[in-house]
Amino acid sequence: MYLPDLKGLRGKKPLAVAGALAVIVLVILIAVLNANRVYAVSVNGKLLGNVKSKKVVENAKKKLLERYREKLGAEIQLVQNIEVSRGEPAKDGVLDEEELLKKLEESLDIKVKAVVIEINDSEVLAVKDKNTAESVLQAVKDHYISGVPGELVRVEVPDRVKLVEKFIDINEVLTPDEAKNFILNGTLETKTHTVREGETLWDIAKENKIPFTKLVEANPQLKAADKLSPGDVIYLQEVKPLLNVTVVKRVTYEKSLPYETKVIKDSSLLEGKRVVKQTGENGIKQVTAEVVYKNGIRVEEKTLGEKVVKEPVTRIVAQGTKTEVTYRGSGRFAWPITGRITSRFGSRGGDFHTGIDIANSPGIPVRAAGSGVVTFAGWNGGYGKLVIVNHGGGYETYYAHLNTIKVSTGEKVTKGEILGTVGTTGRTTGPHLHFEVRVNGTPKNPLLYLGN
Ligand SMILES: [Zn+2]
Repeated sequence: MYLPDLKGLRGKKPLAVAGALAVIVLVILIAVLNANRVYAVSVNGKLLGNVKSKKVVENAKKKLLERYREKLGAEIQLVQNIEVSRGEPAKDGVLDEEELLKKLEESLDIKVKAVVIEINDSEVLAVKDKNTAESVLQAVKDHYISGVPGELVRVEVPDRVKLVEKFIDINEVLTPDEAKNFILNGTLETKTHTVREGETLWDIAKENKIPFTKLVEANPQLKAADKLSPGDVIYLQEVKPLLNVTVVKRVTYEKSLPYETKVIKDSSLLEGKRVVKQTGENGIKQVTAEVVYKNGIRVEEKTLGEKVVKEPVTRIVAQGTKTEVTYRGSGRFAWPITGRITSRFGSRGGDFHTGIDIANSPGIPVRAAGSGVVTFAGWNGGYGKLVIVNHGGGYETYYAHLNTIKVSTGEKVTKGEILGTVGTTGRTTGPHLHFEVRVNGTPKNPLLYLGN
């Protein structure tokens, strides 16, 4: 402040003295006024209070920025301007530095320097800094890589990703975990449900009031809607990842090689009968493939190679070809003709009757009692015209005293086929058929082998 030299005024004219006094008064007045001067501090037109000097505002602002820098580890920017103007002295006095700082904190929006992750030219989220952004992106990739089996071949991100430094609202800065989940799920809050014992997707849809189809859409990781295991985590809303990550992995797995069945004909087995001679066993093949996963979902598989680890064992089935009558001899023959039995099998006077006699008119067809091969067709002593059929298995049938013979030796006949006609040839007293059943050459009572 300028103080005039009063000594120099002595002996000067009264007017000059008065002038000097006026200057002194003015200077004192200015000093007094200065002492009472206040500055109004306001933000966005809202008065925070008065301060004694602009210095107080400067210091408070500096402290505020320092405090955030320490807390956030990042540079910050204040959105609004702090306005300082000459204020009217108020009853409640002036704010000191600490008081102003507190008021500034309450009313200022702080913008912090952060890194915005842009995906395909749209701002997706912001994190603290570039390193954080990079590690978040890596964590997203790692999530998809570790989520599927196999050896990593490559990771591809088809989206354009850009990191941009910007001052943004402090509340918009996400923590690394929040950022990762946001990119993975397309939302900050992922509503999930952990499957309980015996719970179906229907139950969960109903309980959470979500349409069933929406729930299925929200969970593409589920292969089938009815395959839930307790502990599975189900998304309650559709998950739309913000970043597309394609993971290609090489996998090796074993696949079952189904066995083949080979049928071989077996004449020692009855027709229609099947016997497994060799049990079939599936083989094993090792498949190496490249599997493409898009956002954790398997979309493609390319087989690189296959190696048979264990050959399958062919199942061998024997199929019987032996027809019952030809080979086994059923023991039940059909009646060759109808008629009255005039002589039974067995002792007859001093003789032995080796068959049965069935009386009927001459010319009536005589039919094969069973299928077989004609081993004799011709004249045979007392039998007259005789046909013998071999049925296999030691069984033979004889048809004697025939008038005519319709088959010849070596011919195959089927059951019921006409062999000849009833007659009176050979040693006979009247027209009848002498019918015999022999087993391994021994005559047996035909009635025991004839059917109804
Ligand atoms: Zn007889």
